[in-house]
Amino acid sequence: MPNRPQPRFPEPNTETYWEGAKNGELKYQQCSQCDEVVFTPRVHCTKCGSDDLAWKTSKGEGSVYTYSVIRQTRHPQFVDLGAYALAYVDLDEGFRIFTNVSGIDDPTKDIECGMRVKVEFEQQDDGEYPIPVFVPV
Ligand SMILES: [Zn+2]
Repeated sequence: MPNRPQPRFPEPNTETYWEGAKNGELKYQQCSQCDEVVFTPRVHCTKCGSDDLAWKTSKGEGSVYTYSVIRQTRHPQFVDLGAYALAYVDLDEGFRIFTNVSGIDDPTKDIECGMRVKVEFEQQDDGEYPIPVFVPV
């Protein structure tokens, strides 16, 4: 896998998320006032506006909501990938993540909406922070 762009710190909204990724944990937030599940990481609840958000660790399992296969790219960090799949995955805890589905032979044939997937953390050759991707269960 090529090296992907890395987060740049200080970044107070996402630092806990990225530290979780370093430890093999997929982090999300939940509002302590109204229980809304919040993702991507942010300062305020997307439902009630409270800043009382608690960090949680996902089990990392969910279903493909939808996906698209990229067949051409000009970005130098992705050019060697060939065809790859971008997807929205709905985690069982109730949040949706924009990610890749990997660990398959042919992304044009081996992915279906609704298929069960689980998170894996893709280590980067030149980067400190692994990237969460999803593979079939
Ligand atoms: Zn709330």
